[in-house]
Amino acid sequence: MKMKDKLPTKYSPKEVEEKWYRFWEKGNFFHSVPDPDKEPFTIVIPPPNVTGVLHMGHALNNILQDILIRWKRMQGYNSLWMPGTDHAGIATQNVVEKELMKKGLSRDKLGREKFIEEVWKWKNEYGSEILRQLRKLGCSCDWERERFTMDEGLSRAVREAFVRLYEKGLIYRGKYIINWCPRCITALSDDEVEHEDHEGHLWYIRYPFRDAPHLYVNIATTRPETMLGDVAVAVNPKDERYKEMIGEILILPVVGREIPIIADEAVDPRFGTGAVKVTPAHDPNDFEIGKRHNLEPILIMNEDGTIKGEAASYLGMDRYECREALVEELKEEKHIVKVVPHTHSVGHCYRCRTVIEPYLSDQWFVKMKPLAEEAIKAHKKVDITFYPERWSKVYLSWLENVRDWCISRQIWWGHRIPAWHCKNCEEVTISSQTPTECSKCGNNALIQDEDVLDTWFSSALWPFSTMGWPDETEELKYYYPTSTLVTDRGIIYFWVARMVMMGLELKNEVPFSHVYIHGTILDEIGRKMSKSLGNGIDPLLMIDQYGADAVRTSMIMLTTEGQDIKLHENRFEMGRNFINKVWNAARFAMMNLEGNKSTDTTIKEEDYLFEDVWIKNRLSLAIETCTASLEKYKFNEAIKTLYEFIWHEFCDWYLEIIKPRLYNSDNIRSKVIAQKVLTYVLDNILRLLHPFAPFLTEEIWQHLKQLAVKNRLILTDTMVSESLMICPWPKEDAAKINKKVVKTMMLLQDLIRAVRNIRRNMNILKKQKLKVLISVRDKEVKRELDEHHNFLTQMANLDGLEVGIDLKKPESSASEVVNEIQVFVPLRELIDVGVEKERQLERLNKIKSHLETVRKKLFNENFVKNAPERVVNTEKDKEAELLGQIIKIKGFLQDLNKNVPV
Ligand SMILES: [Zn+2]
Ligand SMILES: [Zn+2]
Repeated sequence: MKMKDKLPTKYSPKEVEEKWYRFWEKGNFFHSVPDPDKEPFTIVIPPPNVTGVLHMGHALNNILQDILIRWKRMQGYNSLWMPGTDHAGIATQNVVEKELMKKGLSRDKLGREKFIEEVWKWKNEYGSEILRQLRKLGCSCDWERERFTMDEGLSRAVREAFVRLYEKGLIYRGKYIINWCPRCITALSDDEVEHEDHEGHLWYIRYPFRDAPHLYVNIATTRPETMLGDVAVAVNPKDERYKEMIGEILILPVVGREIPIIADEAVDPRFGTGAVKVTPAHDPNDFEIGKRHNLEPILIMNEDGTIKGEAASYLGMDRYECREALVEELKEEKHIVKVVPHTHSVGHCYRCRTVIEPYLSDQWFVKMKPLAEEAIKAHKKVDITFYPERWSKVYLSWLENVRDWCISRQIWWGHRIPAWHCKNCEEVTISSQTPTECSKCGNNALIQDEDVLDTWFSSALWPFSTMGWPDETEELKYYYPTSTLVTDRGIIYFWVARMVMMGLELKNEVPFSHVYIHGTILDEIGRKMSKSLGNGIDPLLMIDQYGADAVRTSMIMLTTEGQDIKLHENRFEMGRNFINKVWNAARFAMMNLEGNKSTDTTIKEEDYLFEDVWIKNRLSLAIETCTASLEKYKFNEAIKTLYEFIWHEFCDWYLEIIKPRLYNSDNIRSKVIAQKVLTYVLDNILRLLHPFAPFLTEEIWQHLKQLAVKNRLILTDTMVSESLMICPWPKEDAAKINKKVVKTMMLLQDLIRAVRNIRRNMNILKKQKLKVLISVRDKEVKRELDEHHNFLTQMANLDGLEVGIDLKKPESSASEVVNEIQVFVPLRELIDVGVEKERQLERLNKIKSHLETVRKKLFNENFVKNAPERVVNTEKDKEAELLGQIIKIKGFLQDLNKNVPV
């Protein structure tokens, strides 16, 4: 691409981002094809919902993936980042239903087939929005391979997986308690139910003994109408109050049914009276109790929430109408002991707010135990490693306590279950292809199961279904198992564990070897970001405002090893400042690389000056630390290393030190060497920073490349690439580490900082040249400092420097101590000691009066007792800080003139 000659003064993200993203896509740099000569590095994206809009959680998740993908690509791996979306069953169905409602249409009016057509129309129009948004972040996904969980190939994989699991006896049909919305007439998954505290009642009802009708057991319930479906009363076996009664028979009031008292560990003796009614068809815990005790559930409600069953007088009533009437009847019969107000959590349908009814129905299940056992075995063999490690316990404990997975959903949008019921013999035919006849009786009166599969069923196959499974494609052979999965802790069970199980069952291999679990994005006071709180931050707005690279680097600076992140908009300034710093440094460097047409000079090791050797050493260390951090998924340490190196070593020191060499045309050789080192370091910085800030680095690097070509002498070997993103990742040169140089530089920096401190404390201007005396203890150190006389003079801006052994402190001079070395700056000729004394005294008084106000607060008992701890601590910190300042100023005053009364 043709570039302008110079970098513009200001970095403008918008132009740069669009330009380079187009360039990368055109150059096919994101596309990966199987190549037996290269090792693959593969990530499958956690497919966002087609209904999704990019939020901060997605942004973080995908920035992390892009960093890994770009870094590995530069390391020479064949990087593949497989993108795609999830059909998101119920969420998508809802969105489309809402759209239809606006047009006065409904799902039922349209019928299943027409409705599905509408969903596809919607999907084709809006379904890729979130993937378009990922491009704005700079994500280098292989877009040619984009997949969708409902596309042809993946649907085939879903049917095939279902059939294989069914044939192995790992899928079965059975009764199960599900969350049922009587208004929407559908089952809801657990995460589609919103829990909210309700101020309801607890009804205490007495159930008489069959053989002693004047005696009762009292039970407490929040949903009295469900007693119509009671099949037992349960108590805790350890509960002394009821021990003698276990096995006795009670008469269910109103209904007259005989029910036993049973003992079950699950009963909490502290709830109500310690005796609970057991309604297996309408409560998930009771369902489990019922299963353990072989009790036949009794369903007392229709799908729309109206009453059915034995109690004739309540038939057809709505569940709440029934509750009222039933309570009336119980009161009349003197079966109500008391009613007390009771607040408890109630589940609501997330789209219509109707109270959920736990409801027994026929569902399809995956038998999880055998699958979990394989996953546990794989975990023990360390086939999978979690980063941070603590998540592996969470994962494992879920596997060990896993329950069968209900995979059927009563909605229309999704993979329809490949099961056909025979009208003639009721046999179920399971097939990956639509069967023409019943597998048992041969009749062709077949009806496909109405239900669709849980969305997570297809996502569990994602790592191999996206590669063409069940066919043994070239892709599958080459990329599977994938390398790393990057995801949120919220879906360790839903997704990570199920992918592992399906991978082991259907592919005989774990789907990935590393799992990186990142933190959750919270608002600045630690709440989850949500639409209803309105505390979300829109990543696209942030990109628009700060630039994609600033958003990326800020987010990474904020992540510490999978910890949650408290985010506020102003945190992006941190990234933007860093991006601008790099931009300005690069601009400065490049302005000073130009205008040199000298011939190629070969440079030998010994030609490098002290600072050249030092910066190359520091670079080596930065490369080593950054690479090692990324290998351990410590993204934050990696970016911190780069930040420190670029800002505080390259910019603050190296660029400053070499200025005279760059500006001086008399010593061409020294200048050329500085230019070479500068180019070398800048090129490495850009490569290291590329995975974090791809746009900025590409923009600078392309300019640098052009410049390097123009001025032949500074060309480095990596500059032949078409794009920075395919340049090799820097390698550190361990042999080059020169400890002596690094140590000397540390001492010089400390001394220069000491002089700068004195300037600041004594109010001496930066441009004012100083005379400095440095007093050392031994000859060796003196020799070393003399050797770097020019360095010290330049960086501390001195016009006189004397280094001597055991020098005496001159009158009225400021001093600082570095190790055993003393730095003196005589002040008499520099400043008006009297005026400076006044100034310091004034400062001292201000600080003292500030201290007084702080102390007043801290001595006030009411404040200390009543103010939040955080506020009190801030005041305490202030006190300590002010005291420290006072001691310091007293020291300055002593330097200015001894015995100043303070
Ligand atoms: Zn509903
Ligand atoms: Zn049949």
